[in-house]
Amino acid sequence: MADEVNPFESLGEQIDDAAQYVDVSDGMLERLKNPERVLETNLTVEMDDGTTEVFTAYRSQFNGDRGPYKGGIRYHPEVNREEVKALSGWMAYKTAVVGIPLGGGKGGIVIDPEQYSENELERVTRSFAKELRPLIGVDKDIPAPDVNTGQREMNWIKDTYETLENTTEPGVITGKSIADGGSEGRVEATGRSTVLAAREAFDYRDEDIADATVAIQGYGNAGWITADLVDEMGATVVAVSDSSGGIYSEDGFDPVAVKDHKNETGSVVGYHGADEEISNDDLLTLDVDLLVPAALGNAIDAELAEDVTADVISEAANGPITPAADEVLSEKDVLVIPDILANAGGVTVSYFEWVQNRQRFHWTEERVNNELESIIVEQFWNLVDAFEDHDLSTFRVAAYVVALQRIDDAAEEFGPWP
Ligand code: NAD
Repeated sequence: MADEVNPFESLGEQIDDAAQYVDVSDGMLERLKNPERVLETNLTVEMDDGTTEVFTAYRSQFNGDRGPYKGGIRYHPEVNREEVKALSGWMAYKTAVVGIPLGGGKGGIVIDPEQYSENELERVTRSFAKELRPLIGVDKDIPAPDVNTGQREMNWIKDTYETLENTTEPGVITGKSIADGGSEGRVEATGRSTVLAAREAFDYRDEDIADATVAIQGYGNAGWITADLVDEMGATVVAVSDSSGGIYSEDGFDPVAVKDHKNETGSVVGYHGADEEISNDDLLTLDVDLLVPAALGNAIDAELAEDVTADVISEAANGPITPAADEVLSEKDVLVIPDILANAGGVTVSYFEWVQNRQRFHWTEERVNNELESIIVEQFWNLVDAFEDHDLSTFRVAAYVVALQRIDDAAEEFGPWP
């Protein structure tokens, strides 16, 4: 059972930890720990049978000192104000740690999308887009897909916005298909940054990722791309898992063949090339060089962390390690590359999508990947500098120190507006 965590309190603690190493005033710190504004709205929507239902929806604009607010919109029955606020804050610190000129935002609707028809979901989404219209815009706030939302929902939001504004503005949304103004390399971007950051971490330890054994929890978009790219670098992927369980092979897997098996059967379990089936807890505690949690938040709690034996963890998932587990891993000298850098490839290529939309110009995949690599590599070594200069306990604290400093610098530049 994972440690109980209130996400907004966790965010506040992470910022407080970092603030000890940043010359930030108490007043400014208070600002940088809280959202600038939160829209809470009740959407009244007509159902297919003619009845009406009300759905609570949120958009938190956490910080826009470094640029337009940026972050996804999720549909889930457990969406709530505290979580949306926290997620918007993590976006602000994530965009700051990679140094892209965007702020942080997040939104959500309290809804179980499986219970509604496509027409009902369209009306719910367009109703939310109407509420969002004064807040969003290519220079104001740029939503993206998140849990249970995708291209379809983003198209509805973009179309509602463009219709009401009487304009074409593809950059008001990211995560679009290529045909609709999306970027090459976006689908692979999260796994790519997870692997690039890991490669640099091995380099920092005077080791070569090509010699590493790797275990990956979760074989969805982020997990499978991580497996494919780390395999390309010469590392050996010995264990992977999904919600049905895990598989292990001492000699390593062909990531593409495992992916094909999952596409055919719905799970990695049962893949013919596995030596044995293992549980997710077995996978997380395997004796490997690199562990990549790429499934859910809070996957590693303090109890499990005691048994983790990996040397490096690259967090593809958001918040896969509880704060208590983080302390245990730090005492054990496990190098944890925090989510706000490791999985920041996604938002970085979303930023490239926005840049391309503004330029009305399409970049090649090679250009996208090269730009992403140079950002992740440069920012990884910035974390190393902060980690060493301040003699910090973890790379996570280093990431928040770097990000807080950048946001504070931007905020101080202008000061409060009367
Ligand atoms: P996804 O839905 O494509 O894949 C999730 C995978 O996790 C699936 O294989 C699923 O079976 C597995 N899973 C679910 N519950 C599990 C469990 N209890 N144990 C083991 N495996 C389990 O999602 P994704 O896009 O790959 O995202 C994965 C994580 O990465 C999430 O935390 C997400 O927030 C984070 N992330 C993704 C992106 C992105 O661009 N895709 C960007 C930033 C962060």
